[in-house]
Amino acid sequence: MKRIAILGSTGSIGCSALSVVEAHADRLKVVALAAGANAVMMARQVERFRPGAVAMATADSLAQVRSRLAAETVTGIDCFAHGPRGLVEIATQPDVDIVLCASSGTAALEAVVAAIRAGKTIALANKEVLVMAGALVTREARAHGVPILPVDSEHNAIHQCLHGRSSTEVARLILTASGGPFRDRALGRLADVSPEDALSHPTWKMGRKITIDSATLMNKGLEVIEAYWLFGVPTGRIEVLIHPQSVVHSLVELSDGSVIAQLGVTDMRLPIQYAFSWPERWQSPVPRLDLSTCGSLEFEAPDHARFPCLGLAYAALSAGGTQPVVLNAANEVAVASFLSRRVPFPAIPRLVEQALDRHARLSCGGGASLEAIREADAWARRFTRESVAGGLET
Ligand code: MG
Repeated sequence: MKRIAILGSTGSIGCSALSVVEAHADRLKVVALAAGANAVMMARQVERFRPGAVAMATADSLAQVRSRLAAETVTGIDCFAHGPRGLVEIATQPDVDIVLCASSGTAALEAVVAAIRAGKTIALANKEVLVMAGALVTREARAHGVPILPVDSEHNAIHQCLHGRSSTEVARLILTASGGPFRDRALGRLADVSPEDALSHPTWKMGRKITIDSATLMNKGLEVIEAYWLFGVPTGRIEVLIHPQSVVHSLVELSDGSVIAQLGVTDMRLPIQYAFSWPERWQSPVPRLDLSTCGSLEFEAPDHARFPCLGLAYAALSAGGTQPVVLNAANEVAVASFLSRRVPFPAIPRLVEQALDRHARLSCGGGASLEAIREADAWARRFTRESVAGGLET
């Protein structure tokens, strides 16, 4: 029996993970859950899965969960916690084997580092953890002999393609990208894109922030950085390929030119289950891929002029230090500003680029300590908020 903790249980990945646990009740057990503010859903999850530990982002939302559980006379929970400390509590519960990290932000990063130090296997759905702190997290994981298993579908695909191969056999990693809803939209027509347009993703059903990141290709940029840290392949050998049908989830080119790909339906339960079952493979309730009904599969190079976020991510990765932290934080603020209609869609890459430029001039390299990461993160958020407020993005 593998005992699971889920950070971000009420989000899209968290809910899929719980349905994976439900399908494999004989092998998986949920023992700890953490979520943000959705007290109603958390109370339902606790009632159904009966974890021993529960955390919410705030004291107020935790109190709401507790009163709902009391009303339903749900007992047997030994640990209630909240705030950043709560996430760490959930991630380090003594009976946890695997921590699925599907929550966002710097609080999740600290929880993941604590879980690694406590010897927990990490199933990583939150790409920001490696974008912000790839050097620190991978160093800690090596030191504690802890595997980091990617849940992000592309990295999960590469993890499957690499199975048992040595790094000398690998020539290139090729991450596929759907290209998002604006793949065929002319550069000049991106300015009048609405949040509603950007939120209608053609192939994957995901949370709001990641859906916007898919529309700007920033999601793929963050995934390039994530792949760099997960697989230890140099930046110049990590490529992005637009593949609108999202059937091929990613590919690995080997040294002799052979290319291995992983294909499947677009259902996050598959990569989540593989992270839970690894190194085994289990039966799955996910619908099977039927290539005879898929139609044609298309592939093309990404257009960097229309989607500059991808290039910004490569540049931040090459610059190193805390530039990827700034990339991520500025992007989060820019996306939130777009969703609240304060800036137009093309302002997202402009705001990120401004923050990177300014930070490159301010920073003196910057270490990879949690302290330096927190500082760069806070700086970039402040700078980008001020840029939005001051209209600097236009
Ligand atoms: Mg992905």
